[in-house]
Amino acid sequence: MTVEPQNPTDRIACASCRHDIDAAAKLCPYCGADPRTGQKPVDTQAMLNQMFHPRATSATDTVFEFARQRQGVVVALGVLVAILILAGLHEFVTRRNARDVSAAAAIPLTEVTDLNNQSDENKPLPLPNLQFQFDGHPQTMRTFVVEPGAVTPPEVIAAQQAAAAQPAPVPAAKPH
Ligand SMILES: [Zn+2]
Repeated sequence: MTVEPQNPTDRIACASCRHDIDAAAKLCPYCGADPRTGQKPVDTQAMLNQMFHPRATSATDTVFEFARQRQGVVVALGVLVAILILAGLHEFVTRRNARDVSAAAAIPLTEVTDLNNQSDENKPLPLPNLQFQFDGHPQTMRTFVVEPGAVTPPEVIAAQQAAAAQPAPVPAAKPH
C-alpha cells in the first residue's frame, strides 16, 4: 500500500518551469533543472546531442520522412493531384475542340460506314432436313403447311400425273 503525500507543503513549484512537483525532488521531472535554483546541473539536451548524433537532414530527407510517417496524407494528395491533372487536361481539350475547326474536307457518312458490306445477321437459317425413321403410313407423321396462295410445284404435278397414268400398285402385305 502506497502512501500518497497529500500534504500541500510537500509540493513545491519548480523555479524553472513552474510545475508543481514533489518537494523532495532533486531534479524537476519536467525540465530537469534544480527546482529550487532553476539551474540545470546537467544539460540534458546537450548530452543527448552528444550521445545520439543528430543526422544532418536535408530538405528532401525531411520530405521523405514525412511521407513515410504520413502515408495517408501522401495518398490523398496524390489522388488530388491526379484529379486536378485530369480536370485540367479535360478543360484544355474541351476549349481546343470548341476553338479549333478542322481544315479537312467534310467526309460523308457513307464513306465512313459502308452499310452495303454488312451481311444480314437476321437472315433465318434454313431448316435442316430432318431424317427420321417411320414405317406404316407416313401421311400421319407429316405435317404440311399450306400457305395461302401456294402453287403446286410443276415437278409435283408431273409426278401426280405419272402416278395417275400408271395402274395403282398392289400394296405389299406387311406382316404384323
Ligand atoms: Zn521544472
